Amino acid sequence: MSKIDRRKFVYSAAGLSVMSPFILTSGKQSKEIKLKGKKSSPVKHWDIITIGNLSRNRYWGESDEKPLRSAICSCTVISGDNFHLLVDPSLKDPNQMATELDRRTGLSIDEIDSVFITHQHDDHLFGLKHFEKARWYAGTEVAAALNKSGKFEKQVESLEKTFLGAFDIIPMPGHTEDSVGLRFDFNGYSVVITGDAVATKDYWDNGQMYYNVISKEESKKTHSLIRSIADIIVPGHDNYFLNLE
Ligand SMILES: [Zn+2]
Repeated sequence: MSKIDRRKFVYSAAGLSVMSPFILTSGKQSKEIKLKGKKSSPVKHWDIITIGNLSRNRYWGESDEKPLRSAICSCTVISGDNFHLLVDPSLKDPNQMATELDRRTGLSIDEIDSVFITHQHDDHLFGLKHFEKARWYAGTEVAAALNKSGKFEKQVESLEKTFLGAFDIIPMPGHTEDSVGLRFDFNGYSVVITGDAVATKDYWDNGQMYYNVISKEESKKTHSLIRSIADIIVPGHDNYFLNLE
């Protein structure tokens, strides 16, 4: 198990200066880590609002066959000088969504100005309707499908390459054909929100695709892409974790 040069990591997480690259030590060996992100970024702060979980988890000895509990997706808020973007609104109950948002960011529902949906599975948009004042966004195909579904009165706007001068919009096919993730820079780290392109840290560590994928081939390619661009991964159904190599 690797041990990070803790002081440097904690300093960087606290927004203080960190030299990039830095040193990762494992036993007597040490390795230079080159972070993939930029120091300067419009992103001032980001938080996980709900840490996701799966409905069944093979790494807890559970079968992939049937659900054992309801799934909650990982929901994230990223803030800059003129935006509060929420990714994958996870909670059906409006009071619960408002409570978690306040507990993790101090923001109210109406202060969220933009919501992004990574893909059209219900557990990633259970809470979308609570964010009436925000503009709703998704990748082109997801936006078109959600608008066609007639589930929502408000239009979902489509995003293609970049957003707010802070985010790269990245196609992540595999789990679904039209899944799209977000990448942004924060204190030198490249942070990638993957939706269900990555299920949990255990799935990632074991090179395992989500139990439910449209294409294993595409999913594998997406994993390689994420590995090459991310220092920090926010998966679809777990806490965030590091990808430092
Ligand atoms: Zn999904």
